[in-house]
Amino acid sequence: MSLRLRIAVETPQHSGLAGALDYASDQALAPGTLVRVPLGRREVCGVVWDPADEPAPTDAGWAVKPVAAVLGGLPPLGPSWRRLVSFAAGYYQRGLGELALAVLPPELRLLDDAALERRRRRKRRAATAVEADRPPPLNPEQAAAVAAIASALSAGDGLATTQPPPLLLHGVTGSGKTEVYLHAAAQALAAGRQVLVLVPEINLTPQLTERLARRFADRRLVTLHSGLTPAQRLQHWLAAHTGEADLVLGTRLAIFASMPRLGLIVVDEEHDPSYKQQEGARYSARDLAVWRAQSERLPVVLGSATPSLETWQRADEGRYRRLTLAARVGAAALPRVRLVDWNQCPKPKGPPSAIAPPLLDALRLRLQRGEQSLLLLNRRGYAPVLHCTSCGWKSGCPHCSAWQVFHKAERVLRCHHCAAAARVPQACPQCGDLDLHAMGRGTERLEEQLAELLPGARIGRIDADSTRAKGELQARLQAVHAGEVDVLVGTQMVAKGHDFRRMTLVAAVNPDGALFSSDFRAPERLFALLMQAAGRAGRDAAMGPSEMWLQTWHPQHALYAALRDHDYPRFAATQLADRRSAGLPPFASLALLRADARDGAVAEAFLTEAGRQAEARAAEAGAALIAYPAVAPPISRVADTERRQLLLESPSRAALQHVLRAALPDWHALRSQHRGLARWAVDVDPLAI
Ligand SMILES: [Zn+2]
Ligand SMILES: [Zn+2]
Repeated sequence: MSLRLRIAVETPQHSGLAGALDYASDQALAPGTLVRVPLGRREVCGVVWDPADEPAPTDAGWAVKPVAAVLGGLPPLGPSWRRLVSFAAGYYQRGLGELALAVLPPELRLLDDAALERRRRRKRRAATAVEADRPPPLNPEQAAAVAAIASALSAGDGLATTQPPPLLLHGVTGSGKTEVYLHAAAQALAAGRQVLVLVPEINLTPQLTERLARRFADRRLVTLHSGLTPAQRLQHWLAAHTGEADLVLGTRLAIFASMPRLGLIVVDEEHDPSYKQQEGARYSARDLAVWRAQSERLPVVLGSATPSLETWQRADEGRYRRLTLAARVGAAALPRVRLVDWNQCPKPKGPPSAIAPPLLDALRLRLQRGEQSLLLLNRRGYAPVLHCTSCGWKSGCPHCSAWQVFHKAERVLRCHHCAAAARVPQACPQCGDLDLHAMGRGTERLEEQLAELLPGARIGRIDADSTRAKGELQARLQAVHAGEVDVLVGTQMVAKGHDFRRMTLVAAVNPDGALFSSDFRAPERLFALLMQAAGRAGRDAAMGPSEMWLQTWHPQHALYAALRDHDYPRFAATQLADRRSAGLPPFASLALLRADARDGAVAEAFLTEAGRQAEARAAEAGAALIAYPAVAPPISRVADTERRQLLLESPSRAALQHVLRAALPDWHALRSQHRGLARWAVDVDPLAI
């Protein structure tokens, strides 16, 4: 007798197949079992989904292909994992099988039972007997936070009827959030549970990895991130799935780790945009962490000094419980914020300086005292554009609506959108003039200018260019920690969780750009970046008072005023009031429909019709929805492809979800009517607009 099974298989998104497919099997297979099945002319990997409870119909019309192979040696993927994948596929409007297979380690597809058995027999290296770090004593705020998480842990043991609310751990930089995570993790581990810790970027948080490894030296910790080899990723994933690993530390993809004994989820720097996947299924790992915790009835801790406004609003509404760490550990003070008003600075005779005179004096003072300084400039390269002063030529990218950035040391002009590079011309390609001029300033140029302004100072630079070679980032960070650098220049990479003990001055060289951006989230991101950068200074009370400098043309701006007082709640309240009156998230739900084509008009026509269909579906259901006109994003052409986007907005998340579900088949059908359309995609809860 043959059984009919529902199986999630890897169907491409454009096929429009959203759910699982029917296959036949001689044996009953538990949901979550990995199988190989035929699809078209290929054989693909699949996961058995809902139990097929109907026996095979006897009529001859049932022509369903049989399952080709079963990976029986692997324990089935559990119901909580399948629920998470089902939810994510539905919410982010992707195919079930596409998402399920995309979040499993790719090597799993190559595995058969024999290979699995060999892998299992391979002896694990015996754990080296390392003495675990002793936890330091907690201050009263930390102790209160740990106690709150502990009570959520016991509420979420599966027996309780109450669901612990998500916990927001709002702690200023240096307040010891990590120690709270470690204590909470220790409690979950002691209760026999697994712990999942998410970080935005594993390379930028080496200290958290080290601390976890040292504190839990007697436990098995695995990492999951895109920097692993395929074999490592499979090995780590299997350790989590079989329950051998007690702790999983990973980036956004780790939210889909199969963990049968999961007891606690921690999302560090929960506001960080890296938690949003920017291609394929554009999921938010932070939001899925909250969903997964609710679904599995376990506590989730969202930690940040500058929480996302979505999270902050939910805490204001009482849907999340807020835990506050207001003081820095060890009596270290927050840096004093000083604004340099460019309007008040005397105009120099020559070209404008990167560093205003008072900031230069402050840097010299640090040098004399043997203290370190950090200069933040969120733009890499030497200069954003090369310019001919006689004819006006500029170094535009031939493939994009963007400039090619001048990289002086490499002697290239490179586009940061399509990576097209060209040698720096000796003379103007348009008029032959030799007087080419670098306009504006990137980190490479700032480094060069600092060397002139501060003779004898040891200048270091950390950005995506200077750390491309393997191991280079770690080496450069190590040099800063070892005191071999006096002044560090860097992009936002250096603003993240590094614990620089000798740093007493942080300066944002040119932060104004984001104040007047068309992206409504730009101020939120700027505030978070500056607060985080400020947090690099004065972490060691013994080093004396520290300072955060901002060079600005707009010293009266409310964002800087809130920053000066380290007043995130005030900043958040102002921003939330603006968002509420403008009907923006978190007071509305958004989805962005994107379309790419060689010809911008093709993309626009597709979007316009798609928007009309969405409005029609909304009208059918009586759902409130606005489809805005299709527009070009700020960089409208990338790699010879025109990009367009259309915003769908609804005051209700449920209504938007309903419309997306209803309109998705319309859009798949619509695609064939628009020849020349390269691709289209839906981005639910988009971050960049
Ligand atoms: Zn010219
Ligand atoms: Zn380009």
